[in-house]
Parts: sequence; C-alpha cells; structure tokens
Amino acid sequence: MEDDRKEQLRQLCKELIRFKKSPLCKERIQNKVFPVFGEGTHYAKVMFIGEAPGRTEAETGRPFAGAAGRILDQLLESINISRKDVYITNVVKDRPTNNRDPLPHEIELYAPFLDRQIEIIQPIIICLLGRHSMKYIMQKFGLEAEMKPISTIHGKTFEVEMTYGKTKIMPLYHPAVALYNPNEREAMIKDFKVLAKIIKNA
Ligand code: URA
Repeated sequence: MEDDRKEQLRQLCKELIRFKKSPLCKERIQNKVFPVFGEGTHYAKVMFIGEAPGRTEAETGRPFAGAAGRILDQLLESINISRKDVYITNVVKDRPTNNRDPLPHEIELYAPFLDRQIEIIQPIIICLLGRHSMKYIMQKFGLEAEMKPISTIHGKTFEVEMTYGKTKIMPLYHPAVALYNPNEREAMIKDFKVLAKIIKNA
C-alpha cells in the first residue's frame, strides 16, 4: 500500500518533469533549474502547501529550502516534529520570475499535480501556508464564504470531504512572514501548538 503511494508519486513527479504547458517550464529550462515537486513521507498525516518555489528551491529542487524553510523547520521543531515526518509541497511547481506572485492561470495549470498529491498521500490535516494555497484549497472545497484574510483565520480549522474521507484544512501564516514581521512569530508558534494537538488526537 505504502509502496504503491511511493510509486504513484514517482510517476506523478515524472509527469511534472515532462510537463510543458506552463510558461514557467520554459523559463526553468532556460535557467537550468529544477521543478519542485514536493518532499517528505508519502504516508504523512500532515501536508504543508506553500505558494511556489523561490530561487533556492528552484536551484535545489526542494520545497522550502531557503530562509522561509528555516522558519518552517523551527516551527516544526517547536512541536517536536521533523521535516521527514510530514509532506511539504507548493501549489505552483516552477519558480515565477523574480518571485512574483503566481498568476491565476499558472495556479490552474499546476493544481492538478497538487490535487493528485493530496489524493495519494491522504493527509488528515492540510496546512495552507499563505494566501495563495488558502485561496486555491478553500475555493476548491466551496469554503469561499469562510475565506477571510490570513491575519483573521490563521490557526482555525475547517473540515472538508475528500474521496478518502474527512480531512481538516488549516490556514497558517506563510513562514516568510516571520522574516519581515518578527512580531507574528508568537502567533505562528501558537498555531503550531494547535496543529500538534490535532495530530496527537488523530
Ligand atoms: N515559499 C513558498 O511558498 N514555497 C517554497 O517552497 C519556498 C518559499
């Protein structure tokens, strides 16, 4: 069963490498950098979804490999969870030029990869890091009416019905927020404590 998940993810990753429909793929090839599929355990209870790869991520092929990733690691450490126990990915799998916000049609092009990653891994809680992943996932599950700015709904959970059963989703501040607004670090640590309780009770 778990090996099957591993194989399905391997196939999906190969599809991403062959994927050419997004203009961001052309830039990736020109710049000789990597697509960023995602990493972690394929039987993770918790999945983190960020926005899109930045420079370090595109250079290494790994999600959250730069400064924001170090914050994410610290937040995970604060609840005694290691990166290898979770699954981390992004909505958009190639780096947008100069780290600009991903465009709606780019999100649309890459979203089927994310949808399939969720279905394969079957997390019990999906943490939405920042407004782009929040918007995509909340709209997908018909939660438009509950959608507020992250500063209002970070740390709250919503229940959604997946093909594999009920799953929680939780909007969280993007880890990069702590880099330019250190005052929010406390709120982020508090949200991770809520996450730890959910994992413990699952
Ligand atoms: N920011 C993101 O949203 N994702 C990454 O992988 C890195 C930075």
